[in-house]
Amino acid sequence: MMKNILYIVIPCYNEEEVLNETIKVMKKKMHELIKKKEISKESKVMFVNDGSSDKTWQMIKEISRKNSLFTGISLSHNRGHQNALVAGLLTAKDYADMVVSIDADLQDDINAIDLMIEKYKNGCEIVYGVRNSRKKDSFFKRVTAESFYKIMMKMGVDIVYNHADYRLTSKRVLEEFTNYQEVNLFLRGIFPLIGFKSDIVYYERGKRFAGESKYPLKKMVALAWDGISSFSTSPIKIIVYIGLWQTLISFIFLVIFVILNLVNYQTLKIESIVSLIIFLSGLQTLFIGIIGEYVGKIYFETKKRPRFIIEENLMDDGRK
Ligand code: UDP
Ligand code: MG
Repeated sequence: MMKNILYIVIPCYNEEEVLNETIKVMKKKMHELIKKKEISKESKVMFVNDGSSDKTWQMIKEISRKNSLFTGISLSHNRGHQNALVAGLLTAKDYADMVVSIDADLQDDINAIDLMIEKYKNGCEIVYGVRNSRKKDSFFKRVTAESFYKIMMKMGVDIVYNHADYRLTSKRVLEEFTNYQEVNLFLRGIFPLIGFKSDIVYYERGKRFAGESKYPLKKMVALAWDGISSFSTSPIKIIVYIGLWQTLISFIFLVIFVILNLVNYQTLKIESIVSLIIFLSGLQTLFIGIIGEYVGKIYFETKKRPRFIIEENLMDDGRK
């Protein structure tokens, strides 16, 4: 029986500066949604403390003691945004019918949640929050972030353009998600892979309410590389292509120079040797690439991802 229990999962790493404001804003939103009977009274806000070294966890414990609308889990160590999110999603899924994940810093417009719930009620299992524009980002962040999405898509990774981790997922999707056991998790790539009926909600993304970004360039690059390497073996394909072209082209030159040498004994000795060297190193690159293709296959086998998910099965219609 659907009760429309909503859990909002919020990863927090050293967020003492924003937390009180986040609590205030969340409380207002939840009360509003409960009052409108959009969500059940059992709905909650679940903070995930990602091994903070400041007062974040104390603050979470305090608010959960004072107000049963709030709850939390605390990780033993800083495991990064993606892992903190997974911990929250997997914990919340046992209690909730739908889960919304959102950052602690109130950059994402929480009013988009209303529309997410509406779409969920209309049958969507995943609703992706997509930012309207990046006007408020610095030039650098905008260019790096947008090229990130474009490169990912070029490499064949199925992601939603300009969607970060602000999304609604249904219990059903989260249950399927538990079958993705990989450790290097890039959630933005996994959810489109899970499939089901989904939709997009656009929203305006503002500035961080207070404090500093917990995502310095180093972490951004790491996330981008995680995303590419978890879903695509295109880097290996690039090696194969380089090796192939190098071998082919140098082979043609090698043949030409050897023939010229045979015709005129004295000329083009160095040229033949150089093209031979390039030819041989091309062969090595090609062979490494071919081995890489197999390693890539092994890599994907080790992930043991589900091969398919059945959305509907007419055998279940009581006729069997
Ligand atoms: N975060 C986390 N663990 C980390 C880094 C960040 O749980 O190691 C959380 C952080 O508290 C915030 C969210 O991830 O709720 C997004 O981080 P942030 O707002 O700093 O990233 P940005 O918006 O600058 O990309
Ligand atoms: Mg932020």
